[in-house]
Amino acid sequence: MTPFSPDRLLPRYIQTFDAYVPSRPDPELMKMYGCSRVFRLNNNENALGPPPQAQEVLRRFPPKRAAIYPSGDAFYLRQALAQRFNKEADQFLVGNGANEVISFVIKAFCEQGDNIITADKTFAVYEWVARFSGLEARLVPLRDFGFDDAAMLARMDERTKILFLCNPNNPTGTYWDQTRFRRFLDRVDGRAIVVADEAYAEFVEADDYPDGMSLMETYPNLVVFRTFSKMYGLAGLRIGYLAGSPAVVDAIRRTCIVYSVNAVAQEAALAAVRADDHILRTRQMVRDGKAYLYRELKALGLPLISGEGNFLMVRLPFSDTLAYRKLMTQGVMVRTMTTFRFPNFIRITISSPEAMEALITALRGMLA
Ligand SMILES: *Cc1c(COP(=O)(O)O)cnc(C)c1O
Repeated sequence: MTPFSPDRLLPRYIQTFDAYVPSRPDPELMKMYGCSRVFRLNNNENALGPPPQAQEVLRRFPPKRAAIYPSGDAFYLRQALAQRFNKEADQFLVGNGANEVISFVIKAFCEQGDNIITADKTFAVYEWVARFSGLEARLVPLRDFGFDDAAMLARMDERTKILFLCNPNNPTGTYWDQTRFRRFLDRVDGRAIVVADEAYAEFVEADDYPDGMSLMETYPNLVVFRTFSKMYGLAGLRIGYLAGSPAVVDAIRRTCIVYSVNAVAQEAALAAVRADDHILRTRQMVRDGKAYLYRELKALGLPLISGEGNFLMVRLPFSDTLAYRKLMTQGVMVRTMTTFRFPNFIRITISSPEAMEALITALRGMLA
């Protein structure tokens, strides 16, 4: 028998695609790097955890209910979202993290020969899903660290199906204001779907930030992504959603496999939807953390890039991958930015005072 190799069966775009390498669990990292605890500042998680209401739901979840399939369409959660955003429940689709809804949209609208447009230095999953689906991802370079509207419009052609805007942008923190976003939607003029990934919307404090949820009433080709992973501290349960006009959501719904969102996540998210006090406390932690980092990084002479969101980027005078390993020995995990096409940069989650101090102490040690 000839030895089996899957290569012959694989499309070229899968053969040449590199898999994402996730970080190891804490106990493995502590063994590898010889540290006694790990501050995870690599994934923009909320150090305050989920809102107390959601924590209570988690404590009380009846273990026997694990045997029962969850609601296949997150029935109650969609109703709560509809009420919160003054829409119909059918305008929402809930997924296994916002990551899953990215696939839903691409599967619904794109076929061989189509393309999507996004930035070169942004959340990478739009590009990845497009590429491993055999589609062209047109990456438009950032301009002044933000999405370049004119250049994105210039790259559109009749095969462009989706434009992905990360607003505010992960990792640079820049955002398009209301005027700029409306002008962009006017110029796209319904020729393609515009996705506004608002994973960090709940952190934004600027008052000219556009509310995608209301803009979609005027622009039915607008789709908004939100997640419970960042502000709501439910990253480990994997739950996020999209919202759009009824016709667009109806089309996307055809591509989603029901039961990808577990029952515990649905209940915790339902409790989190109205936790406005949690938003205020988290914003305060982020505000304090940023003020501390601005001061301390300046004292260390390290330039930073920061805007909206619970993260910022720092430029180092040496390689980010080397910095990662050295910071890990001090129990501080950051995101290396070479993979985001920002060599020598790291991205840091704004977290608890304790974690921020550990980071600064570790950086100071490295620079000495
Ligand atoms: C974290 C993040 C997501 C994905 O969130 P999940 O709901 O955890 O899949 C999507 N978009 C951006 C910009 C993010 O930073």
